[in-house]
Amino acid sequence: MIPENINNITNNLSRSQQANPLAAPLPSLLGASKGQSADKIREAYGHRVVLFGENKVQEAKDKWPALKQELPGAQLHLIGPLQSNKAADAVALFDVIQTLDRPKLADVLAKEMTRQNRFLPCFIQVNTGEEPQKAGIAPQGLGEFVHHCRNITKLPVSGLMCIPPADENPAPHFALMHQLAKQHGLSELSMGMSDDYDIAARFGSTIIRLGRGLFGERE
Ligand SMILES: *Cc1c(COP(=O)(O)O)cnc(C)c1O
Repeated sequence: MIPENINNITNNLSRSQQANPLAAPLPSLLGASKGQSADKIREAYGHRVVLFGENKVQEAKDKWPALKQELPGAQLHLIGPLQSNKAADAVALFDVIQTLDRPKLADVLAKEMTRQNRFLPCFIQVNTGEEPQKAGIAPQGLGEFVHHCRNITKLPVSGLMCIPPADENPAPHFALMHQLAKQHGLSELSMGMSDDYDIAARFGSTIIRLGRGLFGERE
């Protein structure tokens, strides 16, 4: 099932690239592996998926230390919210933090990275729909937050990430993200999930995060 899914994803991406106004390169596929077994993760890796994302520090701690030994070159991204008191574990375990969303967390992460001498690239999560229940920096606050991360805490910020509102057309959200990344000189854009990755690719996504569409339903 995973090989067929990867085939479909690749075909859909190349089709959507033909209508790609930016002529952007194809995004990398990140397996959003929350709720998926180590076997499924191994199988995806066997089909050349090397980026994986977990939502919870605890679940990642249970699954990944062994997998990392087994799957050389696999890169683990944190794609769920991070509490400050888990920052030390997150810095030790993950390779990229995609959900940097507040100054306090930036400060704690910067301290931990220095302490562990492990400097992970960070993406800032943007709450493009300004949904109160969703994490992320509001678009109009992004400039100030980028400045804080770059100049005050000296965090390695390399991209932006978003989860558009579930009930809206995602295209305007992806377009805004493309513009914000350009404006702030950020090269990575983590956007697009199982239901909208082809649209995200047209707006310059560099990493699409697929759970169900890659692994099948969560266990
Ligand atoms: C679960 C999750 C995904 C993958 O969702 P699917 O709809 O299963 O593709 C992507 N990004 C984040 C942040 C997630 O929590």
